[in-house]
Amino acid sequence: MKVRITENLDIDLPRETWCCHACGHELTSARAAYKTGCVVAEVPLAEAHPPLVEGQAYSFTPDADFCRLLEFYCPGCGTLIENEYLPPGHPITHDIELDIDALKARHGVAG
Ligand SMILES: [Zn+2]
Repeated sequence: MKVRITENLDIDLPRETWCCHACGHELTSARAAYKTGCVVAEVPLAEAHPPLVEGQAYSFTPDADFCRLLEFYCPGCGTLIENEYLPPGHPITHDIELDIDALKARHGVAG
């Protein structure tokens, strides 16, 4: 039994795994950060946010000295699962942590 958690993420409750919603690929343990089971890409900021003002000291592109953009993809089908902006050197965030035992109890899955 799978429970949908986000637009792109399910949890397989009996197996206790994060899964891609699009293809069902198992990413990692549901008790771990799903991002650790994804393919990670760092996107150049000028590619994601091209300068809107040419030839000026300031544009609308974030400063790469203070910001980076990471994208997390399903290794099974390549669906973009999530992205996040972080200061350089900042660890990847653990943004979803669920009570798996309570979820299993709620959905009647033996523990
Ligand atoms: Zn997938």
